[in-house]
Amino acid sequence: DSGSNGEDEQTITAGTAPGFPPFEMKEGGELVGFDIDLLEAVVEQTEYTLSGWEEFEFDSLTPALVNDNIDVIAAGMTINDDRDETIDFSEPYYSSDQAIVVRSDGDFSPGSLSDLADHPIGAQKGTTGEEEVQSELVGDEITESQYNAYDNYVLAIQDLQNGNVDAVVIDVPVANTFAANRPVEVEFVYETGEKFGFGVREDDDALQTALSEGLSTVREDGTYEELTQKWFGE
Ligand code: GLN
Repeated sequence: DSGSNGEDEQTITAGTAPGFPPFEMKEGGELVGFDIDLLEAVVEQTEYTLSGWEEFEFDSLTPALVNDNIDVIAAGMTINDDRDETIDFSEPYYSSDQAIVVRSDGDFSPGSLSDLADHPIGAQKGTTGEEEVQSELVGDEITESQYNAYDNYVLAIQDLQNGNVDAVVIDVPVANTFAANRPVEVEFVYETGEKFGFGVREDDDALQTALSEGLSTVREDGTYEELTQKWFGE
């Protein structure tokens, strides 16, 4: 259907996974965050109209996109080769590494991945944080059952506070936000050099191009900087 120019084709629905502050979260029942503001500002620069937002668990976003339930993913999603086989991405709009977050009581202060040996570790299902745990820790430093996979990072951080896991592996900007609001802290950063992009269907070249062009426009006109100020204080 990507070849048609019908009016309906210009209306798009976005999908996100709240619980990833400050990119997307619920505040007083309302969906807010950097991704929400940024995608809306970007779409304004295009011929498309955003009809609204749908909420999913993070690992359901790609299936929702592929099945046409949504047209674009805005969820702090890292552009990587694995995902690139199934979907396409806009130009990158944010950079991140992975943070190792612990309780701030100071009882456990790992300085490297090997210090996590034999400790229960948490991450969110389907994320690059989970991928790091699986590839760097499971079967080596920790057993399969010492890895705890959560539907969202809010539950993972909650379980860290409860003492059910001793560390959570999560994107740095989100780790910093949790650390500012909860008794947890970033113990060290594992450099992954990730870049976030908006996800679109493989056949949706027109939307992919429009989003990338919209991103350069909002970078040039100061909107992007305003939004990073608003959400990250940068
Ligand atoms: N950036 C990470 C990823 O793409 C986490 C995204 C998220 O949890 N919303 O997997």
